[in-house]
Amino acid sequence: MTVTELPRITVTGHLQKEAWRVRELPPVELVRPGLWSIPVIFPNNPLRYVNVYVIEVPGGIVLVDAGWPVDEAWANLNEGLESIGFSITDVEGVLVTHNHADHLGLAGRIRDASGAWIAMHELDAREVDFDVDPEIFKRAGETWLIKSGVEASDMPSLIIDAGQFVEFAKIPKADRTIVDGERPLPGATHIRTLWTPGHSPGHVCFIDEKNNLLLSGDHVLPRISPHISVHPREHGDPLGTYIDSLNAMLGMNPEEILPAHEYRFSGLDERIAQMNLHHEDRLAEVLASINEHPGASTYEISSKLTWSHGWENTQGMLRRAAMGETLAHIVHLDRRGLVRNQPRDGQMHQGELVQTDAWFPAALS
Ligand SMILES: [Zn+2]
Ligand SMILES: [Zn+2]
Repeated sequence: MTVTELPRITVTGHLQKEAWRVRELPPVELVRPGLWSIPVIFPNNPLRYVNVYVIEVPGGIVLVDAGWPVDEAWANLNEGLESIGFSITDVEGVLVTHNHADHLGLAGRIRDASGAWIAMHELDAREVDFDVDPEIFKRAGETWLIKSGVEASDMPSLIIDAGQFVEFAKIPKADRTIVDGERPLPGATHIRTLWTPGHSPGHVCFIDEKNNLLLSGDHVLPRISPHISVHPREHGDPLGTYIDSLNAMLGMNPEEILPAHEYRFSGLDERIAQMNLHHEDRLAEVLASINEHPGASTYEISSKLTWSHGWENTQGMLRRAAMGETLAHIVHLDRRGLVRNQPRDGQMHQGELVQTDAWFPAALS
């Protein structure tokens, strides 16, 4: 069975889909009475834009997600709000699906302009609410790269520099945290929080019970599957967590899914089946690679997998992200008892002995 043989989703955001095809920013749309979508640009990124959702509440509006922190996206948001009869000062709060900068970045500027609160799940709030020394951050990254078996020649291009860290540290902190099942809007109690960890530890979706809609953030998108990664700040088995929170949605049957990127659609169960198959295929590919190269490092395994633009063209931060994604699959195979780690060598790095992960099929000993 291939993904194309599975039942398909139905695109409902026709204007968004058409805009995607012609590479334009989709229009502002009234999705349901009192609920709009405003696309804001996500420059230099293949996702192109973020769908900010506007929920009308007594006396104002609340946004779901905010957008990437650049002037152009800020202009898109302000013009979008004006076009539906509101202004940025009407924003009472920003519900953030997760702490990635394309969702949270602009929230600080919105808060400055309107006094709005920013809310997100505690696990994601905690991650941005810290003051880490850029040197410690950089060192943790280098240790992770050594552990992953990165070739010395490739090392410099994969290190996050202090400048990027400073940008990261500018991400706004939350004023309030939300938990699974919470109805965060007293004036709009039909909006319920659903904790869906995986893409980030504290990722949440919002369910609009009145209209039977799912505001899915990055958890479920119509075309691509969200990036799931094990990296210096993400431990555990995020892929397993993701698959579990995806399958927990089976049978929910929302009338329409409102994602943070791409376009609206219906057919949640169909989309879940497609994504499960995608991950099983990828897990099988990773396992085959480990069977073929027992003792390979995360870096070596990554280099042998198929990538949409080829491994050679996957450079810098994309390569680092690709390694994180590979590691998420390996860790999940480990949790399933199919592979095991037997770290090798040991290299001194800034006074610390760092061993390289070496992955073996569980059957071999
Ligand atoms: Zn994200
Ligand atoms: Zn996103």
